[in-house]
Amino acid sequence: MRILLLEDMAVTAEVVKGYVAAAAPRAQVEWAATLSAALDQLARGSFDLVLADLNLPDSTGIATLERVLEATDRLVVVLTSEDERLMQEAALERGAYDFLHKSRLSKASLGQLVRLATLQAETFRILRQNIAELELRQRQLDNLSLYDPVTGVPNRSLFVKRLEEAIGTAAERGAKTAVVLLDLARFRGVNESRGRRAGDELLSQVAARLAQSAGRNDVGRVGGDQFVALLAGVKGRSEAARRARSLLGQCFGRAFVVGGEEIHSGAKAGIVVAPNDGADGETLLERAEAALRKAKQGSELTVLYSASLSTTTAERNRLRLALRNREFVHYYQPKIDLTSERIVGLEALIRWESRELGVVPPDRFLPLMEETGLILDVSAWSFRQALEDGRRWAQAGLRVPPIAVNLSALQLRDPSLPGLLEQALGGATESVRLELEVTENALMQDLEDSVRRLHALRALGTSIAIDDFGTGYSSLAYLAKAPVQSLKVDRSFVADMLERPATMTLVRTIISLGQSLGLKVVAEGVDGMDQAKMLRLLRCDQMQGNCFCAPVPAPELEQVLRRHA
Ligand code: C2E
Ligand code: CA
Ligand code: CA
Repeated sequence: MRILLLEDMAVTAEVVKGYVAAAAPRAQVEWAATLSAALDQLARGSFDLVLADLNLPDSTGIATLERVLEATDRLVVVLTSEDERLMQEAALERGAYDFLHKSRLSKASLGQLVRLATLQAETFRILRQNIAELELRQRQLDNLSLYDPVTGVPNRSLFVKRLEEAIGTAAERGAKTAVVLLDLARFRGVNESRGRRAGDELLSQVAARLAQSAGRNDVGRVGGDQFVALLAGVKGRSEAARRARSLLGQCFGRAFVVGGEEIHSGAKAGIVVAPNDGADGETLLERAEAALRKAKQGSELTVLYSASLSTTTAERNRLRLALRNREFVHYYQPKIDLTSERIVGLEALIRWESRELGVVPPDRFLPLMEETGLILDVSAWSFRQALEDGRRWAQAGLRVPPIAVNLSALQLRDPSLPGLLEQALGGATESVRLELEVTENALMQDLEDSVRRLHALRALGTSIAIDDFGTGYSSLAYLAKAPVQSLKVDRSFVADMLERPATMTLVRTIISLGQSLGLKVVAEGVDGMDQAKMLRLLRCDQMQGNCFCAPVPAPELEQVLRRHA
C-alpha cells in the first residue's frame, strides 16, 4: 500500500504520517510539498491512494485536483481546511473519492481510507489479472487446438485449411495436389505391449520423418494412428502414386528406436488427387479414407481413389432397408451433474441392430449414410424415436431429463430440418424436452448460416450443445455467438487429461472460458473415477461416460432412471 501525501505544510504532513503509521503500519507514505513534485512522483510509480491538499504554492483549488486525477486512476481524497461544502460538489463531480477536513484527521479516519484503498487496489489487480488470464487462455486454446499435442504437427482442421489454401494456389497455375492418408500398421499392438508412452513416442517419430520428407506445414495427424501428407505440384495420378510410395519408403524404410528398442513399423495409404477427386478438403479426406479402407482390405500398400470405391448401391440399399425395417434403435447415456450427482440429461446414440451383423456401432455405418445422403432420413427418425422413448418413461411416472439428439453437418444444413422437428414435436403439450448436439466443426463450416438455422430450432423449444469441442480451431468467444447453451469437451481430451499437463490446461481453460461465456460445460467420455474427481475439482458442470453409465438400450435406461429417482 503506497500513499502519496500532497501537502505544503510540513507539520500537517508529519501528523498524517503519524496517524497512518499507527492505523496501518505496513502502508508507506511519501510526501510532496508542491503539485509539480507530486506529478513527478505519480509519473514514476503507482500509488493506491492520494491525499491532496488543493491549495499549494504552485497551484490552487479545483485545478490542482484536475491535474492529480489526470495522473492516477486510484482513490484521490481531498484534504482541506476550508469549509468543505464550498468545494464539495465541484470536487466530487470531477472524480475525487471523498473529503477529509483537517480537523477530522485521526488514526480512525485515515485507517478507514487505507482499508478502502487496499480493497480498491485488490479489485484492480483481480480485474487486470482476469483479463490477462482470459487472453492467455484464449491464446493457449487457439494454439493447442491447431496442433496435435502429441506430435506437434497440424491437426485435422489446420491441415484441411492448409490443404484448401494449397489447392487454391495450385488452381491458379492449373497444377494438381495429391493427398496421402496413411494408417500405421499394428499400432494398437505397440500401444498394448509397450505402453502408451512408447506409442506416443513412435507417433512423434513418424510425424517427424513425414515432416522431413513432405515439409513441416504439409503434414497433419488426423486420427489416432493416421497421418496425412500433401504433395504439391503432381502432374497426374501415376506420379501421385509414385511419390506416395517413395514417401512411405523414406518414412518406414528403417526401424524406429523407442526406449532403446527397435520397432519396425509400416503403413498403408489411400491417395487422392485434387481437383480431380474433389475440390474441398473434407471431401478429399473422405475419399482418401475410402481408398485407405480398400488398401487395408487388400494386399496393396497404396490405393488411388476411384469413384467405384465410394459406396456401392448394394450397401446403400441395405441401409435404406434397415431404416424401413426399424432395425435402428437409440441407446441412451445419462449426463450427470457433478455437484448434485443427479441425472440431468440423456444423450441418444444410434445403433443398428442388424439381423445378420448384430449390434453395429455408428462409426461403421454413419459415414456411409453421410456419403449417400441417407442420413437426412435419419433426422426424422431420431426425433420421433427420442420423443417416443421419453414419453413412455414419463407415462411410467419417471422424471425425464432433456434428451439430446446428435445432428451431423449435413443434417443441420437440411432445409427441411425445422419442419421435421416441428412435426415430431406434434402439439404444444410436450412433456419431453429435446436438446440438439452439433459438433464444433459443423457449426464452424459457416457460422452465420449455422446461427440462423440454430435460431429456428431454438424457437421450437430445443436447447443446443456444441459437441466434440476442442477438435476444431475455432475460438470459443466466436462460437458463443451462436445460440448455444452448453459445451461438450471432446472425449479425447478427457482421456488424456490426467496424463498430459498440456491437455489438463486445455480442459481447465475450456471449462472456465465456457462458463465465463455463460455456457454449461459437459465432459464426455469420462471412463474413470479419477477423471470424474478431477473434473469436479475443475468445477466442470456435468459429465457423461462409462464410469457412471455406458450407453444402454431404452428398457435398461428406464431401470437406471428408476434407481436414481
Ligand atoms: P459423440 O456424439 O461424441 O458420442 C459420444 C460417444 O462416446 C459415443 O460413441 C459413446 O458411446 C462414447 N462414450 C461414452 N462414454 C464413453 C467413455 O467413458 N469412454 C469412451 N471411450 N467412449 C465413451 P458412439 O455411440 O459410438 O457414437 C459415436 C459417434 O457417432 C457420436 O459421437 C456421434 O457423433 C455419432 N452419432 C451417434 N448417434 C448418432 C445419431 O443418432 N445421429 C448422428 N448424426 N450422429 C450420431
Ligand atoms: Ca454427441
Ligand atoms: Ca462428442
